[in-house]
Amino acid sequence: MTDPRVHDVVIVGAGPAGAAVAARLHQHGVRDVVVLDRYDFPRDKPCGGGLTGHIDEALAAVDLRLTVPSVASPAATVRFGSFERTVTMGRPVRVIRRVEFDASLVEQVRAKGVELRTGVVVDELAVAGDHVALKLGGGGQLAAKIVVGADGAASVVRKHLTGNAKALPHRLFMAELPVAATAAPRDDAMIYDFTAMADGLRGYVWLFPVAGDRVNVGLMHYPSSRRGGPELLALLRKHLAPYGVALPAKGSRGWPVWGYHPSAPVSAPRLVTVGDAAGIDGLTGEGIAVAMEQAQVAGDAIARALTSGDVGFAGYRRALRKAVVGRELALDRHLARLLYQHGPGWQRWLSLVLFDPDVLEMYAARVAGTEVLADQKARLWGALVRHGFAARRRRRELTAAAAR
Ligand SMILES: Cc1cc2nc3c(=O)[nH]c(=O)nc-3n(C[C@H](O)[C@H](O)[C@H](O)COP(=O)(O)OP(=O)(O)OC[C@H]3O[C@@H](n4cnc5c(N)ncnc54)[C@H](O)[C@@H]3O)c2cc1C
Repeated sequence: MTDPRVHDVVIVGAGPAGAAVAARLHQHGVRDVVVLDRYDFPRDKPCGGGLTGHIDEALAAVDLRLTVPSVASPAATVRFGSFERTVTMGRPVRVIRRVEFDASLVEQVRAKGVELRTGVVVDELAVAGDHVALKLGGGGQLAAKIVVGADGAASVVRKHLTGNAKALPHRLFMAELPVAATAAPRDDAMIYDFTAMADGLRGYVWLFPVAGDRVNVGLMHYPSSRRGGPELLALLRKHLAPYGVALPAKGSRGWPVWGYHPSAPVSAPRLVTVGDAAGIDGLTGEGIAVAMEQAQVAGDAIARALTSGDVGFAGYRRALRKAVVGRELALDRHLARLLYQHGPGWQRWLSLVLFDPDVLEMYAARVAGTEVLADQKARLWGALVRHGFAARRRRRELTAAAAR
């Protein structure tokens, strides 16, 4: 299908990022917007489905709503071997199913009158003078003054910006299982289990409650060391076993994603990326609320560009970085590099997270969206100083906890 018009904006990808940018542009009165997606909706997406506490504000800010079933998880249990601590969150994390959530966002955006074309794949793009030309699968073409890369981890727009830059992606695997088939705890607390770090994982195993007596299980691995898919699945299987969860031989789904880097290219003249195309949270692998918060920055920048005619987006990376979401992502990137580093140094940082009286509470408040962690520098420094005195003892406690 070839469309001869040059649209104001084409958004590639109708996931949370694309839907939220479309909704933000609609708020700005930008009407000549086309959203493309390779799949028809509902479509599934491998995900833990955890909507952090700031999702309500993020949705409301772009005039979208949570309309699908969710489990409100009021607390997070953090584990390492025999050690366990539960923190209550100021606002619960809501666990949804992506197949339902994404379809509901697409429906809401459609209901606003935004044009969605599904089953359309963007193969290539080229910036040509006063527009961007998109080559579509099947031989069609489409053009726009501005193109938004909301096309996820395998983004063609991101590839256009970064060229052949080689970096290792985060790896995430997940499966959704019926609770009846397992002996997993069902108190609606989310479980983050770091025990697999002693086996070389640089990340954590999760168990999240899902509506309809099901549990979402998975693992995130930070790329400080290269681990193959079969190795990561074996770790996931091993570390789910103590919960009585048997991972089926088939049915767990993996996905490589790129961590957010404050200096990575996220825009170019006529091009903007958002959501996974711009990078996920390196510490937790969170990206849904992140995508929606970034979408506000992107939508505002695009609306300004259409009005002013300056489509260079020279200030976009800085605007993303300076927004609360960018500051939290940048801090989490630092924390991830410490906690998930290759070699034995992770023990020092994991013992800080687990055994300091304040650190988990601070992070729980950040997840709930009741505090901005990047603004808590004095408290973070306080925890570091305490750790300087307690590090040896805490390291011994960690070693003892590992022998579960
Ligand atoms: C296993 C796993 C667990 C996770 N758990 C959580 C969690 O619990 N909480 C959380 O907040 N985040 C989680 N994340 C991250 C979260 O899934 C992503 O951050 C989120 O989906 C980002 O949304 P997005 O719109 O940027 O990308 P996506 O949701 O990937 O949407 C991109 C869309 O673009 C379309 N597309 C891609 N390429 C093209 C193309 N060339 N042409 C046309 N269309 C295209 C795709 O079909 C897709 O619909 C997890 C990720 C994984 C892999």
